[in-house]
Amino acid sequence: MAANCIFCKIIKGEIPSMKVFESDKTFAFLDINPLSYGHALVIPKHHGAKLTDIPDDSLTELLPVAAKIARASGAENYNILQNNGRIAHQVVDHVHIHMIPKPNEQEGLGISWPQQQGNKENLQKLQEELKAKM
Ligand code: 5GP
Ligand code: ZN
Repeated sequence: MAANCIFCKIIKGEIPSMKVFESDKTFAFLDINPLSYGHALVIPKHHGAKLTDIPDDSLTELLPVAAKIARASGAENYNILQNNGRIAHQVVDHVHIHMIPKPNEQEGLGISWPQQQGNKENLQKLQEELKAKM
């Protein structure tokens, strides 16, 4: 828990939230400024800013809970999003997974997808580098 973290305060009940799920390791609630009806956040109770700051055993339930909320919302189309770092659009520095229904073109998540032409040699080099560090 971090004293100045709004999501830690939500977990502790010091800031009110619209909770939809809670277990010993996980908390989920509705986003206060939704991109679409049903937009929810799933967070580990373990405080950490980025995905890479969270121990594995606090990560394992996050996607199953996001899936439960997606099912419960009845959304046919939806995005699961998890931002890390300011330029990656992270505003709250406590890891959170967004479940964002995409009911139509206008509402929900808008994505820019600036693809670059893949280079096989570079990709193979990267594959070897990453594999060696995993
Ligand atoms: P980020 O851009 O960091 O991935 O997303 C942060 C999300 O948290 C935003 O969608 C924002 O609306 C939501 N949020 C920020 N403060 C609060 C709060 O106090 N309560 C709730 N329910 N959501 C919040
Ligand atoms: Zn926190």
